[in-house]
Amino acid sequence: MTALRIILADQLSESMPSLQGLDTAQDTVMLCEVMEEARYVPHHPKKIAFLFSAMRHFAAGLEASGVRVRYIKLDDASNTGSFTGEVQRAAKELKSSRLIVTEPSEYRVLDMMNGWQKNLGIPVEILSDTRFLATHAEFDAWAQGKKQLRMEFFYREMRRKYAILMQPDGKPSGGEWNYDKENRKPPKVGMTSPPRLSHKKSAITKDVLALVKDNFSHHFGTLEPFYYAVTRKQALMELDHFVTHILPHFGDYQDAMVAGEPYLYHSLLSSYLNAGLLLPLEVCQKAEAAYRASKAPLNAVEGFIRQILGWREYIRGIYWHFMPEYGQRNTLNATHPLPDFYWGANTHMFCVAESVRHTRDHAYSHHIQRLMITGNFALLAGLDVKAVQAWYLAVYSDAYEWVEMPNTLGMALFGDGGVVASKPYAASGKYIHRMSNYCEKCTFNPDEMTGETACPFNALYWDFLVRHEEKFRRNQRMPYVFSTWDKFTPEKQKAIRAQAALSLQKMAEGIL
Ligand SMILES: Cc1cc2nc3c(=O)[nH]c(=O)nc-3n(C[C@H](O)[C@H](O)[C@H](O)COP(=O)(O)OP(=O)(O)OC[C@H]3O[C@@H](n4cnc5c(N)ncnc54)[C@H](O)[C@@H]3O)c2cc1C
Ligand code: SF4
Repeated sequence: MTALRIILADQLSESMPSLQGLDTAQDTVMLCEVMEEARYVPHHPKKIAFLFSAMRHFAAGLEASGVRVRYIKLDDASNTGSFTGEVQRAAKELKSSRLIVTEPSEYRVLDMMNGWQKNLGIPVEILSDTRFLATHAEFDAWAQGKKQLRMEFFYREMRRKYAILMQPDGKPSGGEWNYDKENRKPPKVGMTSPPRLSHKKSAITKDVLALVKDNFSHHFGTLEPFYYAVTRKQALMELDHFVTHILPHFGDYQDAMVAGEPYLYHSLLSSYLNAGLLLPLEVCQKAEAAYRASKAPLNAVEGFIRQILGWREYIRGIYWHFMPEYGQRNTLNATHPLPDFYWGANTHMFCVAESVRHTRDHAYSHHIQRLMITGNFALLAGLDVKAVQAWYLAVYSDAYEWVEMPNTLGMALFGDGGVVASKPYAASGKYIHRMSNYCEKCTFNPDEMTGETACPFNALYWDFLVRHEEKFRRNQRMPYVFSTWDKFTPEKQKAIRAQAALSLQKMAEGIL
């Protein structure tokens, strides 16, 4: 029985179920770079380079351990350019009698794989992805019969399941499940990011950079300098660096934003976790060990572990629980075209321009920039949910639909009708002013609601709420919002709405 074992670009872990029980005499492992995947959204050049280089290093590692590998490069003359085309070609040429693959992370690819058995005429075994910490069945059982799927309660189940940050008496470490009240301080004046690792480019990476430059220079984003980890060894160095030097302050400044500082105290581990170079359980356990050795405080460690054991697993659960119908939702009927400033065109809004600059240069911006700057603006301005999702999917090196979609459509845009977020993450310039130093550098004034120099977020915030009053007035998590609006005089309300309309018009004209 000659098996063709497929490894996808985000399955770069030796523990992949599709690699278990491999017969080195008979089986072949296949990885391929295909244009169809690299171009279905215009992925950031750094993201493509990271994945191709990591795939090539992973394949080289397998080969060095005696595994037969079929690696198809993007520019191989016979590359068909499509994933199914390459699987078909390999199965035929290698006379494979069965195909073994681990379930993909995206619905679109699963759909494609479900067609393979029929197309290829050989058995196709699709195995569960054991790297995730909750199975689909576990999430579905947890979600069953619940009116609201709150991450916090799911997270507690996961803490118990993996005995992470738990006391012997079954209570959470320190007595509380969540230490967020100690987290999320505004930035200190003059705050900078701690130094980060920069990985030396191997010959493989240099080849990939040349290939990406030739084929994807027209995509949004700068390719070089390129400093990403591309091997498991380097990703483990990233983890070690984070836990030793940065984790102790993670919680404190989780929501802070500082001009010129894209990383602050964030881990930068999502790309490595999502591609498989790091495993979520090992990351959580390493952070827990730092707490147990008194090297990082509980508020930081709990806050970090919650992101991975809680949010990351919950988001994946939501995706698979509600797909494919989830992807068609647009509860707030948001339809405005995405303005060019998301792709780097000029805008006077410093916060947006700065977040887009970080994105362009690093294929990264941290959670609060994604949620409260680019996401918040898209929410308030009613930008088309599909266009916004396509943007997030393209521009971040950690972006795959399973994690991007619930975060964008659900958390940032409230477009899933309140599955992920119990209230919209809508905020005026006041919030951005409190949590960043952006407003000091902006031509707009966060304290003004109307007029030439008024911060556009302010009027857009109220306009958004009033536009969707029917949905939000009775929301129990927004008790004072509408009572504040009701206290404004009719003239003030009218002026605010006119200001919002003017901002939307300027956005459409490309002069906001
Ligand atoms: C609109 C929007 C789009 C997003 N798109 C993606 C995406 O495509 N891919 C992606 O991995 N994350 C996405 N996120 C979640 C989050 O912003 C990123 O995981 C995080 O910014 C990655 O940077 P970091 O590794 O420094 O994270 P840290 O802040 O250091 O957090 C630690 C880890 O927790 C996990 N995590 C934290 N928050 C989330 C979350 N909400 N969902 C899933 N995992 C989380 C990540 O694995 C991350 O590496 C998105 C968030 C928003 C608001
Ligand atoms: S004033 Fe408004 S637009 Fe300018 S940086 Fe602050 S929040 Fe952003």
